[in-house]
Amino acid sequence: MSVQTKLYEGKAKVIYSTEEPEILLADFKDDATAFNAQKRGTIQNKGVINCTISSKLFQELEALGIKTHYIDTPAPHQMRVKAVKIVPLEVVVRNIAAGSLCQQTGLALGTVLKKPLVEFYYKNDQLGDPLLTHERLLLLELATVEQVETITHLALQINQFLRDFLARCDITLVDFKLEFGLDSQQQILLADEISPDTCRLWDTSQETDPNLRVLDKDRFRKDMGNVENAYQEVLNRILKAVESKN
Ligand code: UDP
Repeated sequence: MSVQTKLYEGKAKVIYSTEEPEILLADFKDDATAFNAQKRGTIQNKGVINCTISSKLFQELEALGIKTHYIDTPAPHQMRVKAVKIVPLEVVVRNIAAGSLCQQTGLALGTVLKKPLVEFYYKNDQLGDPLLTHERLLLLELATVEQVETITHLALQINQFLRDFLARCDITLVDFKLEFGLDSQQQILLADEISPDTCRLWDTSQETDPNLRVLDKDRFRKDMGNVENAYQEVLNRILKAVESKN
């Protein structure tokens, strides 16, 4: 497969066109950013790790009937995906209070939520990805009422799957961010990635230790050290869980 033009370079991935107009190639980078790209660095091997984790999780979701943009993995750091028009929303699902939810509401870190919370943020770096109300989302015409309903339903289904799957890896799913896109038939597909860059993941058996438990990008955000090891550990556990199932 010959790689063609670079279409877009984001913080974590480069997107290339391919010879097929409906197929794109996502190349996962080792670059890491946080706090709206004010903090920059490199996490060794992150591209391969996040591409592999995302590929495995997308395959599992597809097997459950959840449509994703995933096609295949031609190289360890590359994913072929269906071309979609990204809905400019960052869809966050939370099971346990952390990050901006704690900062903005005063809820204590680690508070277990009675039911999963789905939130929408405006995917707009210039504005700093602000939290949206349902009315603002509709006002800005970022999605239709029906699309919001579909996305909310999908986000909760994905949360249920991920929670159960990661529990088998001895990992607690605290929260995560999803992005969705529309294909040429206006079908909503799960897009982007699911990885330690986009999820908060706690080592269940270390849950009482605020340092040891963190297996995600918070290690980079907060200079906690051992970032690569944490990402590798998540990958190892996911591969083991996938293997033991097959
Ligand atoms: N998240 C993400 N990209 C973003 C913002 C958040 O992947 O641009 C993820 C983040 O890793 C966490 C969840 O979404 O798993 C909720 O993040 P939060 O709103 O608490 O913001 P943060 O504290 O990470 O800035």
